[in-house]
Amino acid sequence: MAQVRLNHIYKRYSNGFEAVKDFHLDIEDKEFLVLVGPSGCGKSTTLRMIAGLEEISEGELYIGDRLVNDVAPKDRDIAMVFQSYALYPHMTVYQNMAFGLKLRKFKKDEIEKRVREAAKILDIEHLLDRKPKQLSGGQRQRVALGRAIVREPQVFLMDEPLSNLDAKLRVQMRTEISKLHQRLETTVIYVTHDQTEAMTMGDRIVVMKDGVIQQVDTPTDIYNHPANMFVAGFIGSPAMNFVEGSLIEEGGEVYFVSTNVKVKIPAGRAHVLREKNYIGKEVVFGIRPEAIHDELAFIEASPESSFEAKVEVAENMGSEMYLYLSGFGDKWLTARVSARTLYTPGSQAKLALDMNKAHIFDKETELTVF
Ligand code: ATP
Repeated sequence: MAQVRLNHIYKRYSNGFEAVKDFHLDIEDKEFLVLVGPSGCGKSTTLRMIAGLEEISEGELYIGDRLVNDVAPKDRDIAMVFQSYALYPHMTVYQNMAFGLKLRKFKKDEIEKRVREAAKILDIEHLLDRKPKQLSGGQRQRVALGRAIVREPQVFLMDEPLSNLDAKLRVQMRTEISKLHQRLETTVIYVTHDQTEAMTMGDRIVVMKDGVIQQVDTPTDIYNHPANMFVAGFIGSPAMNFVEGSLIEEGGEVYFVSTNVKVKIPAGRAHVLREKNYIGKEVVFGIRPEAIHDELAFIEASPESSFEAKVEVAENMGSEMYLYLSGFGDKWLTARVSARTLYTPGSQAKLALDMNKAHIFDKETELTVF
């Protein structure tokens, strides 16, 4: 069993900087776990502690049932794939893949069997005699994966393995790594700063900021129920819109109001705001770009969240359009609508919000109210 348990782990560098704070998580056997967050949030440090490349300052790390804080990297039964591939330039693909097994004194025919099997899985059998410089970026990345696969480790650690590839290849390799995970049935811990990779690959996602876990959840739950404004703004593209304003009660209904904004909070959610004493308080209203609609039927059915705004910029993405609008709150609002209607800059757009998908955040703590 390859569970990985991080028990209240801290990393303090020698200069006193605390890069990871109280990281506490059980990663399940065969899980694909993604650590995501902006540059410097501590995700690589966390992965390197699991790999044994970085000492743990406080807390315990278990791989399976074994406490491994003091176990050398090579004895942890893990394999790591780096962003830089780290292939040996003077060796062939075969030799690169075989190297780790040779070091571990595997028999020649066992090495041959494992290398050929991995090469077959990764579709690089025809490249085994080449040197790394004779390969494309995507092929090099496959070799780096192959070198990890032949070890048949309990746990794969991957640190931004796709970031050196161009956009198209990245999408392709993303699917391949997911397929590989299903086929190998091992635990994968994958670090990325790319929220799309996190959303599409992870069974669960850990969102980090400033060395602290912000939320651990499935992609769907992270997207629909972000724990705070940071997670809400980090996951999703284009990003969620935030509008500062306040909550008022009028005629038994609760409204969010701001500059040129007055939208009704659905009754089912208004009671949460009453119970938690948010009426009369300043809050942040959040709405994702795709929860803003321009279909006439939707607008007519939603008079209490409809509004007119000026199209400042319209980006045509082919099947959909991103509209950057002024006239709703103090900042531009991003809407993601179908490209049926061609908006031009300067024109007026009539829109409505899907208020069942709106969020309210506490302005001081930035935590989600709903
Ligand atoms: P990136 O995506 O840029 O790699 P990251 O989330 O992986 O970012 P880490 O590499 O884990 O971030 O670094 C976390 C923090 O620890 C950063 O602020 C970094 O500057 C700091 N840090 C990393 N290594 C050291 C070190 N040896 N000494 C002091 N601080 C360090």
